[in-house]
Amino acid sequence: MTQDPEKIRCDACPVMCYIAPGQTGACDRYANDGGRIVRTDPVVMLSHSVEAGGRIVPFAARDWDGSPVPVDAFVTGIGSGTTYPDYKPAPFIVASQVDGADMITVVTEAIFSYCGVKVKIDTDRFLGPEGAAVRAGGEAVGHVTTGEYGSQMLSLGGVHHLTGGSKREGKATCDALLSLCNRQPVDLSIDGGATLTVAAGAAPIIDGVQEVRMRVGCGSATIGMFAQQWQGLVDEVVVV
Ligand code: SF4
Repeated sequence: MTQDPEKIRCDACPVMCYIAPGQTGACDRYANDGGRIVRTDPVVMLSHSVEAGGRIVPFAARDWDGSPVPVDAFVTGIGSGTTYPDYKPAPFIVASQVDGADMITVVTEAIFSYCGVKVKIDTDRFLGPEGAAVRAGGEAVGHVTTGEYGSQMLSLGGVHHLTGGSKREGKATCDALLSLCNRQPVDLSIDGGATLTVAAGAAPIIDGVQEVRMRVGCGSATIGMFAQQWQGLVDEVVVV
């Protein structure tokens, strides 16, 4: 029962949103369209196959013979979904045999709304005060966090930026995280601090200057822990 007769309840997941007319639920996947729950992003893969004349496996084409997987089916986990945003255990594991070979697919999921990225930037330059907002495309996507072992650290993402602010903020945060995780460069600016371009595995560019040295640790760590690993790999080690 709903308090508001105009709102209808989505029961696609345990969040059980009450959705007002013309609005979407918490996940943006379902909406109240004139009193009907509809998907906001239609599942189009099947229609693409139909349009392209692709092969389609008929659903429930014959009676179930009792085996979990039909003998003539090739099972993969591709396309498996979840009822996100509620919790669902992962991974999904499906298995079948094809020509005597075991085929096993494991599908895991990451709940992106709750994800974050720690960016470790090897530089001595001042990036910005701890706690200062880090922006991508003008939107706050994280903050400067405590420096660790000679590196400057940014904490990006997390639920407040991904889903707690405006859609623009969420999109900018999502774009920044995806780019970083795909080793692509991302332009960031820090309130009261520097502008920088960072990419995994590449020297950072800070206020237009590319770093040429990597600060790794204190003198004792440099000598005691890392010396052997560096041997033959680095041009120069400076201990101050
Ligand atoms: S979060 Fe999405 S799927 Fe879950 S009840 Fe709300 S609208 Fe439906």
